[in-house]
Amino acid sequence: MAREVQVEGVVLRRWYAGEYDKWVSLLTPESGKLRLRVRGGRKPKSRMGMLTEPLSHIKARVIEGREQRLLVQPQLVRSYVNVRLDLERLTIALALGETLDRWLPEEHPEPEVYAVLVDALGSLESGALPAGVAAWAIWRWLAVLGYAPEVGQCARCGAGGGDGGVIVGGQLWCARCAPRDNGVPLSSRAVERLQECLQGEPLEARPDEAQMLLRAGLRYAEDALESPLRWLEFWERLSALRESG
Ligand SMILES: [Zn+2]
Repeated sequence: MAREVQVEGVVLRRWYAGEYDKWVSLLTPESGKLRLRVRGGRKPKSRMGMLTEPLSHIKARVIEGREQRLLVQPQLVRSYVNVRLDLERLTIALALGETLDRWLPEEHPEPEVYAVLVDALGSLESGALPAGVAAWAIWRWLAVLGYAPEVGQCARCGAGGGDGGVIVGGQLWCARCAPRDNGVPLSSRAVERLQECLQGEPLEARPDEAQMLLRAGLRYAEDALESPLRWLEFWERLSALRESG
């Protein structure tokens, strides 16, 4: 990276460094995930601090130091106000950011992964079904990163995906062949939606299908990437609370 560059990106996560500073993990399309120090970013009422909170879409300058990189002069591109005002949307958006922060290595550009994040935040901001947005983003990321499961037919008996089934170890098993108590069962419609999503189409799922696909996506991601995503449990509790009114 040059001594000083202009970047645009979305803050995935932040953590504090001492009394006044903080670190952010910024996802950029050209340089991938960058770990940057924000001088004075922890001070109360600091504008630098406010602009570099998770989910902020910013432009900024990055200065290469001897031991660390500094983020300076952040300018807001988009702040996702509606997302911040709604507990479910905010929870999902923050969880998506943390998920990418865990999955992506530093300084490895993944422009398509970035584009999916920006799309997902935009959809949450404009009122799309939160579980549907999250399911779409998780499955798109898995596909882009090379972890898409084979869902065209049952891996065991060859039956088409039309009967629904369960994803086991990267493959679809139809409802008849699937081992009991293993994975999240998907309806035939959910399997069709998943196929479309893996091929890069938008996810147009009903709420029950979106929930199924999100659960299945998170379970699958845990197995495929061997990286537990704690937010599944939290999100399930949150949606149970909402359903009970
Ligand atoms: Zn089968």
